[in-house]
Amino acid sequence: MTKVDHYTRELLDDLLRDDLVTGQPDEGEEDLIANALKTAREKHKTGPIVMLFKALLDLRKNGISPAAFGINRAELVDLAKKHAEIDEHMASVGCRVGQALKIVEQADARVDDYLARKDIEAPSGIELWNTIRENQERIKTRLAMSDADWDSFPGQIRHAINSVDELADLIDLPKSAAKDILRVTKNYRMRLTPYYTSLIMPGEVNDPVMLQAIPTGEMVDNAGIEIPPVAADHSPARLVDQFYPRVVTIKSTSMCAMYCTHCLRIAHIGKKDKMFSKEAYGEALEYIRSDKRIRDVLVTGGDAFVLPNSMLKWLLAELDRIDHVRMKRLGTRVPVTVPMRIDEELLDILENSNDNKPVRVVTQINTAREITPVSRQAFKNISGRVSAVLNQAVLLKGINDSRVKMWKLCETIQEAYVRPYYLFNCSYRNPQFSHFRVPVEQGRDIIESMYGNISGDAIPRYIATAGGKIPMHRSNVVSSEGGELVLKKPWNGEEVRYPDADMDEYKNGDFSFAKY
Ligand SMILES: *Cc1c(COP(=O)(O)O)cnc(C)c1O
Ligand code: SF4
Repeated sequence: MTKVDHYTRELLDDLLRDDLVTGQPDEGEEDLIANALKTAREKHKTGPIVMLFKALLDLRKNGISPAAFGINRAELVDLAKKHAEIDEHMASVGCRVGQALKIVEQADARVDDYLARKDIEAPSGIELWNTIRENQERIKTRLAMSDADWDSFPGQIRHAINSVDELADLIDLPKSAAKDILRVTKNYRMRLTPYYTSLIMPGEVNDPVMLQAIPTGEMVDNAGIEIPPVAADHSPARLVDQFYPRVVTIKSTSMCAMYCTHCLRIAHIGKKDKMFSKEAYGEALEYIRSDKRIRDVLVTGGDAFVLPNSMLKWLLAELDRIDHVRMKRLGTRVPVTVPMRIDEELLDILENSNDNKPVRVVTQINTAREITPVSRQAFKNISGRVSAVLNQAVLLKGINDSRVKMWKLCETIQEAYVRPYYLFNCSYRNPQFSHFRVPVEQGRDIIESMYGNISGDAIPRYIATAGGKIPMHRSNVVSSEGGELVLKKPWNGEEVRYPDADMDEYKNGDFSFAKY
């Protein structure tokens, strides 16, 4: 007769200890166990056996022993053996009930709070779609937009909202706010597409979409009236930014469909709608052509998708013609600010270019609100044609600076075919938006809370931009001594031993085939 494993022995000992046996089962409990026992015996399944042991263990905690139901050790051992025989991995019932279920219960406790709060504190644009649709009808009527206007990129841009009066007519703006916005927009460009405006919820104070799109008094009060120039110390050639050896950016336009209040490039962006000449692009391409190390080129802006299709197609083809350029990236917020731009012609251009060398689309989504059925469809279409769609979010006070909001953002975009890539700490270099900054301690708390609790590929890397992107994850290595590390699990602080590879063995080249 085979023996049961030590987890099951421990579980049996726990169940059959005769100390603290104080209680008697009531009728309901008797029925429950009688049924569970019958099913566990009759069915060729592991589940009912686990259920019986779990129920017995719960009752034992209340001082009622299996003996009270006429169940003895031999009976339990038989069932435990049956369990091990059925299970493909020969997992024991003791391991399931004594270990695995406990770990799952602990894990459940970590996400219960999130599950209860996520749709209340951070509803997505999909969950709010009915209200958004109502907003759209109101905005369409006030702006006298036809359905065709609404559904087209030129229609959205032609009807974009630039003035405070127009804005106040479409959404709830407190009177004093309107005055302040008028003052700020003397220095900062404001432009909201009617679509993006429809994501603003009536009556919500500090609505996360409003905060991103409508400049407030702090912007000039923090910065002084003059906009401090962003250093041009990373631009080795016209339209080119470079601080890495093998990755460069081309600033393809100064235009965006919507101008963000937290834009890192605020000094260049949104002054005038500027397209650049082929001569300017030509100089950028010349620089890239002349340095064989450059492998990956990001076409940014502004927003790469405000370029006309013909220009985008030309630029991508030029990059494909440079042999050492192997990868292309396009930076755009258009799928969230004006998803109507993602037309078949653009999708074909992306697909054809991706056939030559991989194209990745890098976007910026900061709240789950920005994912609506329409933007989700746009991302789905794009993701079918390129090699990846990645998100670079910015950590912004009041917008996504809590665990619940950030988890919800990352899960929602993942469900919309977009992979979380970076989470940027809001830069110190632009005093205009210091009111949005979140302390690094809080940023780390949010990021670390994600490990072990949501899908690993929904967790972005937390980054500070300071002359390049610097990762800010706190180290989980508690100590490292004598070839052994102590690591900390971010989700519960538990420390685990982690033996390192042996350094002498690692340095010895005489291994595997070298030994023959
Ligand atoms: C962000 C950025 C890059 C790309 O960095 P990755 O870490 O490769 O995403 C490259 N060049 C410049 C100037 C940038 O701002
Ligand atoms: S889309 Fe990007 S470049 Fe354009 S305003 Fe927003 S943050 Fe700036």
